Amino acid sequence: VLLGFAGCLLLVATVAGYILSGRAMVPIARSFQRQQDFTADASHELRTPLSVLHSSLEILEEEKSSLPPFHRTVLTNMGDEVSRMIRLTESLLTLSRSDSGAEELNREPANLLELASDAMEKMRPLAGRKSITLRLDTGEASSSTSLAEAAPTVLVDQERIRQLLVILLDNAIKYTPEGGAVSLALEQDDAAGGCRIAVEDTGIGIPSEQKQHIFERFFRSDKARSRQEGGAGLGLSIAKWIVDAHGGKISVESELGKGSRFTVELPGEK
Ligand code: ADP
Repeated sequence: VLLGFAGCLLLVATVAGYILSGRAMVPIARSFQRQQDFTADASHELRTPLSVLHSSLEILEEEKSSLPPFHRTVLTNMGDEVSRMIRLTESLLTLSRSDSGAEELNREPANLLELASDAMEKMRPLAGRKSITLRLDTGEASSSTSLAEAAPTVLVDQERIRQLLVILLDNAIKYTPEGGAVSLALEQDDAAGGCRIAVEDTGIGIPSEQKQHIFERFFRSDKARSRQEGGAGLGLSIAKWIVDAHGGKISVESELGKGSRFTVELPGEK
């Protein structure tokens, strides 16, 4: 009995030693790395043929008026699908580069109000097509300074923050029925030196049991609807990566059928 017990103890110690020494993780880490490399290489390789297709379609587009109606529709559909594939490969490339640490932030002083206005202007035509009202709210609450007065400068990667705002606004517009409203609110937290960005909509909302999954890659709450809207379920994963890389936090509050509110908190430099 004693020998059997000692044998068991030895086996447990050997397995524990193997795990604790980190050697058990090596094959897993290697296979994870291979998967990351594959995604990065595949998206990179797809870029060139897709941009060739895109420019070829642009040439055909010039001749569009001389084509029969059916061929015009085919051409438009091809253009939409190629654009969708380009967005998808760019998203995959961003995520695989962020996983491997190759995607670095280029932080510089930026005016948050300007970035928000830029993103709003970019999204205005999309909102207009669904008669959705877009509003930029610069915060008048007594506990915080109005951003319009303070003209805050934050140390961020401007391109990435612009991309983050576009992702949140694009979703807010996509998941809000015609005639609804989308607002982007900015607030500066005087004490900590950070700022808060909130994108709110009067849209379809997110079922509570799905809230914890929406930042996962390829997660789409309503797959049919999201696909129809052209989404692959990568937007919020990229948004989360951008916020995390800035040391911030992103959260969501939502009520089904009433709307959603995404809040981003970015820390200050202090
Ligand atoms: P997608 O490309 O499908 O929009 P995202 O990663 O941006 O992918 O979002 C993941 C899922 O979260 C969406 O498919 C949608 O179900 C849900 N979602 C995101 N934003 C909103 C919103 N503002 N209102 C309702 N649902 C949303």
